[in-house]
Amino acid sequence: MKSFELYEPKNVQEALVVLKTHGNKARALAGGSDLVAGVMKDWVEGTGMPMPDALVDLSTIPQLKGIKADARGITIGAMTTLTDIIENKEVIARIPLLKDAAHSVASQLIRNYGTLGGNLNQRPRCWFFRGKDFDCFKKGGDFCYSVSGDNRYHAIIGGEGCYIVHPSDTATALLALNASAKIAGPAGERTVAFDNLFVGPGVNILAENVLKPEELMTEIFIPNPAPGTRQAWTKLKNRQVYDFAVCAVATAFTVENGTWKDGRIVMGGVAPVPYRALVVENAIKGKDIKAAIKQASAAIRTVARPMSMNAYKVDIAANMLERTILAGLA
Ligand SMILES: Cc1cc2nc3c(=O)[nH]c(=O)nc-3n(C[C@H](O)[C@H](O)[C@H](O)COP(=O)(O)OP(=O)(O)OC[C@H]3O[C@@H](n4cnc5c(N)ncnc54)[C@H](O)[C@@H]3O)c2cc1C
Ligand code: SF4
Repeated sequence: MKSFELYEPKNVQEALVVLKTHGNKARALAGGSDLVAGVMKDWVEGTGMPMPDALVDLSTIPQLKGIKADARGITIGAMTTLTDIIENKEVIARIPLLKDAAHSVASQLIRNYGTLGGNLNQRPRCWFFRGKDFDCFKKGGDFCYSVSGDNRYHAIIGGEGCYIVHPSDTATALLALNASAKIAGPAGERTVAFDNLFVGPGVNILAENVLKPEELMTEIFIPNPAPGTRQAWTKLKNRQVYDFAVCAVATAFTVENGTWKDGRIVMGGVAPVPYRALVVENAIKGKDIKAAIKQASAAIRTVARPMSMNAYKVDIAANMLERTILAGLA
């Protein structure tokens, strides 16, 4: 692995100075499970993705860690571990959807040191992107190897030149929970709704979200769901021991006499961003859920554009939508 300078800032301002000084040759370091043990160890680099020469260790900034609950909702510091989220009483009581999604991430060991900020900002798992011999579009190269190569786990919705699926399970759940992220940069702080946080390859093929290299995610806010909100999470993976989602569904919705009042349905493992299935939401809104669920879930087929080896994911997506919404209703 290439050598690097390690910085240990005491606060966010000090971290931002290092990021600004080194430009796109510096990276925030959280638990390191993806950045160090993945990207850097495997030499995942290219003209649009230089290997970092400076890592900014965020574990030395106490303000970035912890969970606070108040009357408006729950705020989670970016450096909070996934295990701390899973075990938090307020998370379990108010937003079990996030607890279930975080619990489905990787292994106990990785959840013990992997952080929420790292999970949301991790890089994609496309095997060509991760292979150092493939200089693909996402690394600044001139080709997408998934189009003619093995694309069985790639996107069925929203690929434009790049067909990754967004790897983060917590991102899928947090979009369904209408969360927002606080982002700190040289110009100050801004709050970005998860609706606007993630970007597909048509917007920026080199990144998966709107953070700039000199910015940091500092905390996530999840508003209290409306009283009586139903929440459900399902994830299908290939290897049962631990694995990324072939397809995942997160939903949070309100019901009146069996009828869908309001809510969100978000899919993971199917698109370059956590995908809000508006086509399904629109098909079920105001209808008796049990009566309409099959037809509403099938609406996902109208937006799916599978690749040569992954049409099977369209059937899985339709089935998992149906199962997850019915699980929320139960
Ligand atoms: C074997 C294995 C299986 C996995 N399975 C799953 C899975 O099933 N589901 C899933 O969702 N994930 C999975 N992961 C990913 C894992 O959850 C992430 O690696 C972990 O959550 C990242 O957290 P970290 O703190 O180690 O991040 P790091 O590796 O330290 O950072 C990851 C990226 O995020 C950036 N970053 C970190 N914090 C911030 C911040 N505050 N602001 C801006 N940028 C930041 C870093 O610069 C880096 O680019 C798996 C990983 C492994 C190794
Ligand atoms: S899908 Fe994206 S990451 Fe994978 S090879 Fe194509 S351009 Fe690269």
